[in-house]
Amino acid sequence: MAEHRFEDFNGLVMYRKNYKEKDMLVKILTDRFGKKMFYLRGANKPKFRLSAAILPFTQAAYGGDIRDDGLSFLNNVKSASQFQSISNDLFLNAYATYILGLVDVGFPDSEPLGSWYPKIEQALTLIDEGFDAAVITHIIEIQMLQVFGVQPQLQVCAVCGRSDLPFDYSEHYGGLLCQRHWHLDHNRFHGSQRAIYYLRLFSVIDLFQIQSVNVKQTTQMELKTIIDRIYQDTVGLSLKSKQFIDKMYSFDRQLPQLKKMPSEIDSTPKDD
Ligand SMILES: [Zn+2]
Repeated sequence: MAEHRFEDFNGLVMYRKNYKEKDMLVKILTDRFGKKMFYLRGANKPKFRLSAAILPFTQAAYGGDIRDDGLSFLNNVKSASQFQSISNDLFLNAYATYILGLVDVGFPDSEPLGSWYPKIEQALTLIDEGFDAAVITHIIEIQMLQVFGVQPQLQVCAVCGRSDLPFDYSEHYGGLLCQRHWHLDHNRFHGSQRAIYYLRLFSVIDLFQIQSVNVKQTTQMELKTIIDRIYQDTVGLSLKSKQFIDKMYSFDRQLPQLKKMPSEIDSTPKDD
């Protein structure tokens, strides 16, 4: 019945904001208690004792006073380390922020994330180590669809269960349609076979087994369009961190050539 208790746990700083004059609120994704908001008195003063432990994109072993409701408190920290590349690179920072944003909306506070905690930690580690941040983010986006209550059929045709024919994605049927059933949905995505291949692969890929990812830029742009559309239509999220990525993306990768109608990006089995 204790409403608060001293605990050791691992955590990952999600974000922080100033509170009152000298204090700070820090949201930490913990391995055992889910997302928790911590109140750090004096965190904005110079030489604050725990300052290294509450920097953005830091993971650490913490000790603290975990409250079931309301704010929790940090008492000590062991072995804090910061994701260096993510902290120093605006682009990587944007992707990592978006992933943490998805986690923040997708999971209720104070509810343990189970296997999602190591998965999120691994995603940030891979991005920090130089794996393509957009690809890692797409993997998280696709796998997190189920967290948002969307479980698209991405392995076999949603109508007949076949897996040996070319596929396309249909929102109406909630997943893949094999070529024999394409006529059932005129609004199917008309995705290229390569993009659909990665969509399927990313839905089951294990971030702990990943060796290398090398997705052509045109395919990546198409994948982004597909995933954005699924999120827009079935999840209905509009995160500020995502809008930032979109701006960055269109600026950086010159999107105009993708601004064709979806029907024009027709299925070409070999797009490379
Ligand atoms: Zn079928």
